[in-house]
Amino acid sequence: MSSTGEPSIFSRIASREIPATIVAETDRVIAFNDIAPQAPVHVVITPKTSEYANVVELAAGDPGLLAEIVAVASGLAATLSNGQFRLVFNTGETVGQTVFHVHAHLLAPQAAGGTLE
Ligand code: 5GP
Repeated sequence: MSSTGEPSIFSRIASREIPATIVAETDRVIAFNDIAPQAPVHVVITPKTSEYANVVELAAGDPGLLAEIVAVASGLAATLSNGQFRLVFNTGETVGQTVFHVHAHLLAPQAAGGTLE
């Protein structure tokens, strides 16, 4: 739930209420292609539930879950790209955070011969 009590957009993607191209999933984490990609590989990686609004809260409250997000990012970068990547956590409205359900942006170059879908 978000601070408004409504499920966040990412919770609704995790529950399959809203469609997305899901590229990885664990018991607690889901990863899907960003609807407005800013790089050849642009994947949103997020906990399935939304109790943490940003990465600072997540690191304090559940560092193991943060480590799981990093591990999912690393695995996806190896399969979708060349293993090298940027991992961005927008933290706060003034730096562009629009969804207050913690998430990482995985940004990477396209692997030679790879496809986004
Ligand atoms: P933020 O700006 O909060 O760091 O990142 C939110 C991201 O979620 C944006 O890059 C935006 O394009 C993406 N996004 C927002 N709504 C949807 C959606 O319904 N589906 C998908 N796949 N991505 C979304």
